[in-house]
Amino acid sequence: MAFWHSLTLLPLWHRRLILLLGSLILLLLLWPLEKVEATRATTALPQTNPAASGHRLGEVEPDEPDEAPPGLQGETLKVRNGDNLAELFQRAGFDPATLHQVLDSGEEVESLIRLKPGEEITFYQNDEGALQALSYPMGLDEILWVEQARDGFACRVEKIKLERRQQIAQGTIDSSFWEAGQTAGLNNSLILGLANIFAWDIDFAQDLQPGDSFSLIYEELYRDDEKLSTGKILAAEFINQGQRYLAVRHRDGHYYSPQGKAMRKGFLRAPVNFRYITSNFNPRRKHPVTGLVRPHNGIDYGAPVGTPIMAAGDGVVSASSYNGLNGNFVFIRHSGRYTTKYLHLSQREVKVGQRVKQGQTIGRLGGTGRVTGPHLHYEFLVDGVHKNPKTVALPEATPLSGQPLNDFKLRAHSLLARLALVEPGRLAQVRPAEDR
Ligand SMILES: [Zn+2]
Repeated sequence: MAFWHSLTLLPLWHRRLILLLGSLILLLLLWPLEKVEATRATTALPQTNPAASGHRLGEVEPDEPDEAPPGLQGETLKVRNGDNLAELFQRAGFDPATLHQVLDSGEEVESLIRLKPGEEITFYQNDEGALQALSYPMGLDEILWVEQARDGFACRVEKIKLERRQQIAQGTIDSSFWEAGQTAGLNNSLILGLANIFAWDIDFAQDLQPGDSFSLIYEELYRDDEKLSTGKILAAEFINQGQRYLAVRHRDGHYYSPQGKAMRKGFLRAPVNFRYITSNFNPRRKHPVTGLVRPHNGIDYGAPVGTPIMAAGDGVVSASSYNGLNGNFVFIRHSGRYTTKYLHLSQREVKVGQRVKQGQTIGRLGGTGRVTGPHLHYEFLVDGVHKNPKTVALPEATPLSGQPLNDFKLRAHSLLARLALVEPGRLAQVRPAEDR
């Protein structure tokens, strides 16, 4: 009795496992011997004594939620582009009737209808090939379970407790920011995230130099001591050409300078993501036909044809057209006195009068018009006058104030103190960027 009592304290899966094993062992005892040898490995466990097997199973730890239910064959299918649930069930070998039963299993099952490519469903079937259960990880900390019940299926959502740990990384740019990020142990999403934090201050496509450096504190998400993924960047420092930029994440999800000024601004410094940049296109080139150096009012970005070009700021498309000199071009009028121009596109993806958001793709890089090679020619105008988009003073977003600012400063202080420990003395040697 004590044994069964202790069983009720075990997690649900363990209890099921024990029940299942009990019946399997009963089955094994009743089955002819030759058949036993033919049974699948998952069912042919060596124990013959139910008590002994129960004891042994009680020690299985820790409780792995995505572990195959014992004795069942689990098959994991990845959702492909254009897949829907019906196709997935068919691929897994289940008929539409089973799918309907699953869809009838409860409210939470709705999440199965909005599958995205790359997601996974694991199907568990018994030896007869009948579906016994399926599991579907919904994000990192939830798993949807649909399980065989008395009549049809029942579903439930299993919550998984994640632990957040803070990690510090530091790097110095030698040849490229991407490489430096990888050397520092950052994954792609952290490298891009870091660049996004400073995208309003630094032109990552053109203005990084050997010796530039960065450090950051970010989260890592753990489940049962197993690292699942990285989380948010909490604080970061970037030193570009001797200028230091600091940013700390606020609970509103945005980043601010230690003084509470918003990192985001009206315009991105570069309309091309740095990871596409292949060369520093020479803007002072001689014209191939006239042999003269053309006056150059913009910045040229060299990247593969087809590279997405982003709107540098929110605005309205004022031109989207083609001519022999500019090739395919897009102009955007922004609030106030600003206009941005994007030339030589292979493709335009916006129409005149259309509203665009900062970062939205407006076209693709190309080599149309009078050019020596494919590149983006980008112009930034204030009151109709060309300005250098890398150095022009940009309109700023609303800074933090009042109690949120006080809370932010307190948090920022402790994070930045930790960041400063990365390389003692280094921070003192650089001058802060203007007005930060
Ligand atoms: Zn140009």
